[in-house]
Amino acid sequence: MHDMSSISPASDIRIHALQTGTVAIKELQSNGRGRDKSSLLRVFAARRWTEPLPILAWLIEHPEGLIVVDTGETSRVSEPGYLPRWHPYYRVALREWVTREDEIGPQLRRLGFSPDDVRWVVLTHFHTDHAGSLAHFPNSEILSSKVDFEYSRGMRGRARGFLPQHWPQWFSPTLVEPGRRPFGPFPASTALTAAGDVHLLPTPGHTPGHLSVALEAGDTVFFFAGDVSYTEQLMLQGVVDGVTPDPAAARATLGRVRQLVTDRPTVYLPTHDPAAVARLTQRQVVTASSVRQQA
Ligand SMILES: [Zn+2]
Repeated sequence: MHDMSSISPASDIRIHALQTGTVAIKELQSNGRGRDKSSLLRVFAARRWTEPLPILAWLIEHPEGLIVVDTGETSRVSEPGYLPRWHPYYRVALREWVTREDEIGPQLRRLGFSPDDVRWVVLTHFHTDHAGSLAHFPNSEILSSKVDFEYSRGMRGRARGFLPQHWPQWFSPTLVEPGRRPFGPFPASTALTAAGDVHLLPTPGHTPGHLSVALEAGDTVFFFAGDVSYTEQLMLQGVVDGVTPDPAAARATLGRVRQLVTDRPTVYLPTHDPAAVARLTQRQVVTASSVRQQA
């Protein structure tokens, strides 16, 4: 079954966009205004909210198996006590709307799949809107960066706003360390597939071990960016977000992405970009002129 939010970039591959609800954040979180130092307190105090933004996850039908990039959010966020209100981020800086039917499990079933059919789940990072629905995947191999797993677990992870207390009991991800092969401007990629067409790329900044996923289909790269930036525009402008613990690393990652989209036709797919699904289905690559204009 082929939904309206999918594209087949090669005869044996199909990519589906799955919207697992919406989120609103403070505008200063999405656009840190390029300051040298991020300020969480400034984000918390800000008045202006973004419009409701999509929480996207991605399904890749690949000859070697189904690949899911991020699980999206869980409808449990509306249960009292699920989100820790003692944490200022959840108290003042995040609003989410997720129904049970928005969750990735029901969405996969509507497409004719079972979550049990998914071979690999790649987590870009552990923020709840990316890792909130792990519970749907007890029989898949789940991959995350070693750096972000350590950064997000335990009491220190909870203090940083992660929710390891909600990870399933069985959760034991395959930990990815920076690979040995360069992929374009990225020095340390790891191939996920034996065919070598799906790459896990360290893209530190938003979190220290943030991973992006690049799928090569012919000349074109489909770049699943997680929260490397909230929109394509912010990536082109090189504007870091307002919550990064390391603005210099975030800026270096944005520079590498800009180099990639200059070197190769690239469809750029961040998790929260309202234009991402249309770019996917129209196979709309970043144009060289838009890179030059912003540089
Ligand atoms: Zn995030």
